[in-house]
Amino acid sequence: MLKKVLIANRGEIALRVLRACREMGIATVAVHSEADRDSLHVKLADESVCIGPAPSPQSYLHIPAIIAAAEVTGADGIHPGYGFLAENANFAEQVENSGFIFIGPKADTIRLMGDKVSAKHAMIAAGVPCVPGSDGALPDNPDEILKIADKVGFPVIIKASGGGGGRGMRVVEKKEDLLKAVEMTKAEAQAAFGNPMVYMERFLQRPRHIEIQVLADEHGNAIYLGERDCSMQRRHQKIIEEAPAPFITPEEREKIGTACTEACKRIGYRGAGTFEFLYENGEFFFIEMNTRVQVEHPVTELITGVDIVQEQLRVAAGLPLQYTQDDIVLEGHAFECRINAEDPYNFIPSPGLIESCHLPGGLGVRVDSHIYQGYKIPPNYDSLIGKVCTLGKDRTQAAAKMRVALAELAITGIKTNTPLHRDLFKDAGFLEGGMSIHYLEHWLQERKEKLVK
Ligand code: ADP
Repeated sequence: MLKKVLIANRGEIALRVLRACREMGIATVAVHSEADRDSLHVKLADESVCIGPAPSPQSYLHIPAIIAAAEVTGADGIHPGYGFLAENANFAEQVENSGFIFIGPKADTIRLMGDKVSAKHAMIAAGVPCVPGSDGALPDNPDEILKIADKVGFPVIIKASGGGGGRGMRVVEKKEDLLKAVEMTKAEAQAAFGNPMVYMERFLQRPRHIEIQVLADEHGNAIYLGERDCSMQRRHQKIIEEAPAPFITPEEREKIGTACTEACKRIGYRGAGTFEFLYENGEFFFIEMNTRVQVEHPVTELITGVDIVQEQLRVAAGLPLQYTQDDIVLEGHAFECRINAEDPYNFIPSPGLIESCHLPGGLGVRVDSHIYQGYKIPPNYDSLIGKVCTLGKDRTQAAAKMRVALAELAITGIKTNTPLHRDLFKDAGFLEGGMSIHYLEHWLQERKEKLVK
């Protein structure tokens, strides 16, 4: 087993990894920027190292500083969390070349899945259903581009191969607009990602976002832990997630889950990962893979009882998974609300001093958060300050528990998006389940229009 793990992250995920390590008797090293000296992950870790000033390029993204911190503290493994360097293949490579264990997939796998064109190729070869579209990158010849679009069918979406974070995408409704849109997306992709390669997909009109959590080890085993529905999004950012996804049948789950585990075996996947799909009219279409632990992993842990981070640590140490597919039984229903330090309706970030803080609790309530009374949220990072999750015997009970938990949650001194979550857990459409990825944007728009009237 690993003896000492350096956690190359901050906030709630640093705490999440720290707790998993501690339960397994693994010592922990926190790294932090100058702005995070008073962070809980620093206070709770066995050791901590300041790796630079507040801006993340000089601290949490600064590879040499992180590797030096692992060297001076004698860590044997490095856990990247999510965000920052978690999907940076060069980081994974440098970690391993410096003699440490990278707690994640091999650098080559991160590279393969990080480029969307190569990821789609790999998935098509593995038999995973993808959104119909161009066979790889678009050619330069305008006639060929038009031909591809006719075959795919309008509307289409032009996407950057190197894109991420909801950027580098453009929807095209009509043939007349196509060539100009391709040129513009290429130019943007070159500027933003240093890679002008773009590809084309059919634009799905009312899909849901459904993703499959997988775990794989180096002994050829791969399992899926069911799915999550993450359709409640604003600007492609998830805000509420749930597991299982409403109205997905056991047969559908098994079919898509098996396709994902077969793909894992084929590409030699290692560790935790997520296959993201758009789901429309009973069909799944792969869009991308995240080669790391995700923010919303707790809902899966709640309904399966599997500690995903501990499995990551075991796999990284070369051990086999503790579970086979037959061990995985989904029980109950779980929700997660992402609590952000921001205005609930105009979404302007609201960092600053937390004057008071009461976090909810009780049977079936899980809170992952690094905040405490007197903690000052620095303005330099993501606005996520915690996650409130509930587990009920069914969706109705999990929602009722969430309403109680959100009513109890009380944070003063800063703004949070808690009021938005409270509204949504009273909304008939959301409570019905199975809404598309556009539901929240429409809901916010309607709310605005009502206020104007
Ligand atoms: P990113 O890596 O930037 O998050 P994704 O490929 O995961 O990009 O797509 C992000 C979001 O964009 C999806 O969740 C969905 O809302 C929308 N999207 C992407 N591809 C399509 C498509 N073919 N049809 C409709 N919506 C799409």
